[in-house]
Amino acid sequence: MIGKDNLFDRIGQFLADHRLTPDPAHYSFVHALMTDPDGPTARAVALLTDGGVRLAHDDVIRLGGTVVNEAPVQSASGAPRPSEPSPEARSDALVAATQSQVEGFAETVRAMHAVTRGFGRDLEESAAAITRQPTVAGLDQIASLTGGMIARIRDTEVRLAQATAEADALRTKLAEARETARRDPLTGLANRLAFEEAFTACREAEETCCIAVCDVDRFKLINDRHGHHVGDRVLSAIGQMLAEECKGHLVSRHGGEEFAILLHDVSLSGAAALLDAARARVAARRFRVRATEEGIGQVTFSAGVTAIRAEDTREGAFVRADQLLYTAKSQGRDQVCAA
Ligand code: GH3
Ligand code: MG
Ligand code: MG
Repeated sequence: MIGKDNLFDRIGQFLADHRLTPDPAHYSFVHALMTDPDGPTARAVALLTDGGVRLAHDDVIRLGGTVVNEAPVQSASGAPRPSEPSPEARSDALVAATQSQVEGFAETVRAMHAVTRGFGRDLEESAAAITRQPTVAGLDQIASLTGGMIARIRDTEVRLAQATAEADALRTKLAEARETARRDPLTGLANRLAFEEAFTACREAEETCCIAVCDVDRFKLINDRHGHHVGDRVLSAIGQMLAEECKGHLVSRHGGEEFAILLHDVSLSGAAALLDAARARVAARRFRVRATEEGIGQVTFSAGVTAIRAEDTREGAFVRADQLLYTAKSQGRDQVCAA
């Protein structure tokens, strides 16, 4: 275990060596680095600073350090707790860790190659000497060479096992990061990126798909009357109902109070019927503020639905659905327009 005083000295020394100001962002980054010296960030830093290169402020941010303006948060033990990195910083740190991991593998393979090449050359020389003049000393030399080789192979096996375990852990983190990058944090639904990827996949598979764009009616009023938090809850609830009614299709939050749905293998009238069922369900619900039981009343949404045509670009199909949504709004809201 690292002694506390010693750790603080080492953090101070690290900051001085790298000419980093001793502010909370740098301090908490180096603290995290030193308390997990074998972790992916420490390895990425080791790689970056190889050959005496100084770590810059931008590197700290890129590797997951967060700029904070207030004093570092104190944990129960009195040691500063590193601040929570943003999703972007986390994904940058993962990229850096992956690069470091790949370098680690390459280094292990290079080391193995060097070991086997040296062993082959020594063995050849010894075998040639024995062929010229067989001696017990020559045989001893071969036995000693082989023993050394076995020890080095065992060492390499341990390094390979460590590298494999790290690669497995990294693969899991990358899969999580990939998932997080495609999810809307408020509703838990797919986000715009996931929708766009699904649209492209649907085009490539030449499926018959429809898209729907839904927009909550007069949503600003809910925020204005009950506050943004209540608005957030209403959005989540509507997203949930849409996901349930359109089960098996890709329901995404496209931004703000707008949802985009990619409906697979369904006719235009089938898609419109699904959306209308969701519309009716939302309109029938009487929302209440959870904390106070105060009624919010009826909340509705309008939607535009269109079938994707062979010649459509994503933008083209989306604009058509959006225009239908506009028609639904202008005709009085709480309705689905399909064409
Ligand atoms: P319309 O029927 O014409 O769509 O009216 P509207 O009030 O829904 O439309 P408008 O575009 O005027 O307002 C949308 C509001 O949605 C404004 C914005 O503050 C709110 N909003 C956008 N994203 C969020 C969010 O994530 N949470 C909350 N609570 N509100 C949001
Ligand atoms: Mg809107
Ligand atoms: Mg709206």
